Amino acid sequence: MIRELPVMINGAPCPRGNREAIPVHSPSTGEQLARMVRSTTDDVDQAVDAAGRAATALASMTARARADLVRRVGDLVAGRAGVIARDLAGEQGKPLREAEGEIATAVTMWHEAAEIVRHSTEEILPSDDAERRVVVVRRPHGILAVVTPWNFPATIPTEYLSAGLAAGNAIVWKPSELTPITAVHLYDCIVEAGFPPGSVNVVPGLGHETGAALVSHPWISAIGFTGSPQTGDAIARAAGAKPMLLELGGNNATVVLDDVDVAAVAERLRSAVFANAGQICSSTERIIVHHRIHDELVDALTDQATSLRLGPSLDPETSIGPLNNEPTAAKIDRHLDDAVAKGARIITGGTRPGGWPTRLYYEPTVLTGLTPDMLAFREETFGPVAAFMTFESDDEAVELVNGHGLGLITGVLGQDTGRALAIGRRLKAGVVNVGDAATAWQPHTPFGGYSGRASGVGRLGGRYTIEALGQLQTFVLPAHTMP
Ligand code: NAD
Repeated sequence: MIRELPVMINGAPCPRGNREAIPVHSPSTGEQLARMVRSTTDDVDQAVDAAGRAATALASMTARARADLVRRVGDLVAGRAGVIARDLAGEQGKPLREAEGEIATAVTMWHEAAEIVRHSTEEILPSDDAERRVVVVRRPHGILAVVTPWNFPATIPTEYLSAGLAAGNAIVWKPSELTPITAVHLYDCIVEAGFPPGSVNVVPGLGHETGAALVSHPWISAIGFTGSPQTGDAIARAAGAKPMLLELGGNNATVVLDDVDVAAVAERLRSAVFANAGQICSSTERIIVHHRIHDELVDALTDQATSLRLGPSLDPETSIGPLNNEPTAAKIDRHLDDAVAKGARIITGGTRPGGWPTRLYYEPTVLTGLTPDMLAFREETFGPVAAFMTFESDDEAVELVNGHGLGLITGVLGQDTGRALAIGRRLKAGVVNVGDAATAWQPHTPFGGYSGRASGVGRLGGRYTIEALGQLQTFVLPAHTMP
């Protein structure tokens, strides 16, 4: 029987009624895995209303009591990690091993959010007035709208849900229409942990309908969004001046200096480029390599790419799964066609091989001769593509990294750490990995787009997310009310 994924408001699934349903397909096999109910505008109103009531209950709990519940969600996710990872791999397309790693990270995020809020403190500030004391307290925003993508269906929502609840917000969440099964698992764990009903409400649906209705709802106090720069722009326009975390796309470069161990760099780039079939906002897409070692590194990474085993997500032999969806595959086709038409060369891959149940299987691809006029340089490709370009001077490397409108994460690989750091200091990205490739991120550290670029606003990561999802309130009190 096909599973039905309902609208979930106030701690319970809503009866389907006459709402439409959208099929959810496996990228690996093409089979229908579930049917997702398409929330109506009325559902969004009901969900926001329920969240409003829960927000009052949550805000009156102590932070330490909320921390206990947040921790319990992590325990519940850990207890059913195997089942969630299989469903996640099934609907997203990543190899089961990667899905298991994602669930383990999500569990850590729940546990860390609990620890952070359990030990959070508030401040007493010096006062200019001997009769008055100044106390700064942390308050939640109120009702948080969370809208998430399909590439990490467990960890990306968890960043907002764990921190948002820890900070005392109630939440209305619209998960990606492409990965709603994982959302139901997370929701079940949150409800079972014992949060007040309505603390998290899930409105499955399409972006331009449900998502747009949610982010523009007048009662929403703040927004947490991860997705494309285009949708981020639309959300910022719809929501106006509300507090917002926007975590958008990247086209990340790893610079490779001429003093590296080429084999070790190729091995590092294998996962930096091809993990999750390149569908990671922090993946290395552009490899900016010193011209002296270009050919050697291209050969070594080509060996790595051809050693990957393309296959269905649940096959234990698979090391790279299918892409999640056709628009992503079509964009990769477009970027490669454009690059080849402008003079780039495909060394390996570049096609969708036949013989699989869907058209989403994409060969790991290595391309040389990337230039700044190509789409693969200017926009995010979001696929299993390593695009090479060369530099001669360090100034030129800096110019190439910074030479487009995005700025999420970057890496500089070189034995001479002083030289790598000197380059790193000049790069316009939210995260700079010196001695590592673009992609590596420790989830408790600040992650986000460099100011003035199109990769987003604000920082996610551990206490930084919790701080962003709350506000400070300043109390000025008669001195005799304080010790
Ligand atoms: P997307 O922007 O198409 O969709 C993201 C979510 O927004 C989905 O739930 C979608 O239904 C919803 N949405 C779409 N239009 C909307 C609208 N008008 N109003 C409200 N909601 C709307 O992105 P995607 O294809 O799901 O995800 C891939 C993108 O996400 C890539 O650009 C990737 O780089 C980015 N991403 C960024 C980070 C980060 O941390 N910076 C992490 C992961 C993914």
